[in-house]
Amino acid sequence: MPELRKDPITNRWVIIATERAKRPMDFAKSGEEMKSAFCPFDYGNEYTTPPEIMAFRPPDTEPNSPGWWIRVVPNKFPALDPSSRIERYGHGMYDAMMGFGYHEIVIETPDHNATIATMEDRQVEEVVWAYKARYNALAKIPDLKYILIFKNHKRDAGASLAHAHSQIIATPIIPKRVQEEMSGAQMYFQYKERCVFCDIIYQERMESTRIVEESDRFIAINPYASRFPFETWVLPKNHSHDFGKINEKEVQEFSQLMRRSLLRIHKALENPPYNFMLHTSPTTGEGNRFYHWHLEIVPRLTKVAGFEWGSGFYINPTPPEDAAKFLRGVEL
Ligand code: ZN
Repeated sequence: MPELRKDPITNRWVIIATERAKRPMDFAKSGEEMKSAFCPFDYGNEYTTPPEIMAFRPPDTEPNSPGWWIRVVPNKFPALDPSSRIERYGHGMYDAMMGFGYHEIVIETPDHNATIATMEDRQVEEVVWAYKARYNALAKIPDLKYILIFKNHKRDAGASLAHAHSQIIATPIIPKRVQEEMSGAQMYFQYKERCVFCDIIYQERMESTRIVEESDRFIAINPYASRFPFETWVLPKNHSHDFGKINEKEVQEFSQLMRRSLLRIHKALENPPYNFMLHTSPTTGEGNRFYHWHLEIVPRLTKVAGFEWGSGFYINPTPPEDAAKFLRGVEL
């Protein structure tokens, strides 16, 4: 059973994922690219994943058989367990809770070699529709407070399978990173009575030096204080705290700008490993006036090293103004 443990100094929660128990020798092989001899996400191998939660497939096909174009399954090695009880307990001075939560995989395409950057827009829209459907279904489950949609692309960004997929982890606590963004945005709102993200968008459009691309409803920027080279955020231009409320037009435009941003990164940096994280407000409903959902894309070009680990400071060798100019110039 996984367990959530709280660091008593910083209040950061850690998942001790016992199901994924690893011994020292299991960590030795990092850096080796994944071999693709057998892939559980290919057509015909559906029986090797846990039964599907949801799929976009023709009505005349059976669940867990080929024919689908999007498939959502529970993670075979989940970080959290939906069947766990929700129970907090103490351990001397320490706080812990049982590892209740959901961990799902969105298989983005049956095509083993496709990536979001190079997919048809239509397929990326289907991925985003799947995100929305799972987001709203999980948001209804009592005791879950946060749903994080994210992606690890390539092994150096944490992917253990090469086939295009993203992940959804739903937790009974609001993660510290989100908590920090929430409280910063709330403080800004209390002072100015405006959403800090809306103000960032306004400022970026005034200066335009850090804009990668914009459409009617969305904008892609390299943030002013980017932590990493070519860090790119995609935000809705109209204030919205809840990704779960995204409408049809927005799904289209968001998918397109996400894909185009990833394609720019793919072309400019030769298909680097990357992570993306979709930040939206907690399912508890707070933040509707001051929080603003967005996607953060982080190409993994530098290694987080001692100074970053020790200080929380990041050293970014590429000014976001240069990065944005470079990405803007990529021919799509
Ligand atoms: Zn806003």
